[in-house]
Amino acid sequence: AVKARIMDADKLRRALTRIAHEILERNRGTENLVLIGIRRRGVPLAERLQKLIEEIEGVKVPLGILDITLYRDDLTTLSVQPVIHRTEIPFNISGKKVVLVDDVLFTGRTVRAALDALIDLGRPQNIQLAVIIDRGHRELPIRADYVGKNVPTSRKEEIAVQLEEIDGVDQVLITEL
Ligand code: 5GP
Ligand code: MG
Repeated sequence: AVKARIMDADKLRRALTRIAHEILERNRGTENLVLIGIRRRGVPLAERLQKLIEEIEGVKVPLGILDITLYRDDLTTLSVQPVIHRTEIPFNISGKKVVLVDDVLFTGRTVRAALDALIDLGRPQNIQLAVIIDRGHRELPIRADYVGKNVPTSRKEEIAVQLEEIDGVDQVLITEL
C-alpha cells in the first residue's frame, strides 16, 4: 500500500538538476569525470545526470553500467550476498573521478560490492556516490556525497522510485506491505 508520495516529476527533476550542479562544483568541471549507473534504476538516473551536465558544461561525460543484485543465499545465515552480474564500463577508470549513481541507499551493501568491482577494474582518483533517496539503516560505514532527499524509513517500509524510462511515470512513493 502507498503511504505517501514524497516526490513528483518536478521535485525529481529539480533534485537531479541540483545534484548535477553539485557534482560540477565539487569536481570543478568535467575533467576526468565519469558516471557509473547501478542497474536497474541507477542507469536512467545516470543518463539524466549525463544530459544535465552536458546542458550545463557542453561536455558529454562517459557513462558505464554496473549490474549488482543482493540475494539471501541461505535462510540459516540470513546473510545478504551481493552478486556482480555484468559490468559495461567501456573505458579506463584509472585516474578518473567516478560518480556512482543509484536510486536508493539502504544498508550500503550494494555500494560496497560496487566499490570492490570498480577497484578490480583500475585505480580511480576517487569514487563518489549519488542517490535519489537515502532511507537510512546503514550496516556499513558508507555515505552518499549527493542526495536527492533523506527519507527516514522503518524497516517495514519501502521506497518506490518510479522513472519514466522504466515505469512510465516520474515519482517517489513510500510503501508498506
Ligand atoms: P543496500 O545495498 O544499500 O541495502 O540497498 C540498496 C540497493 O537496493 C539499491 O540498489 C536499491 O535499488 C535497492 N533498495 C534497497 N532498499 C530499497 C527501497 O526501499 N526501494 C528501492 N526502490 N530500492 C531499494
Ligand atoms: Mg538496485
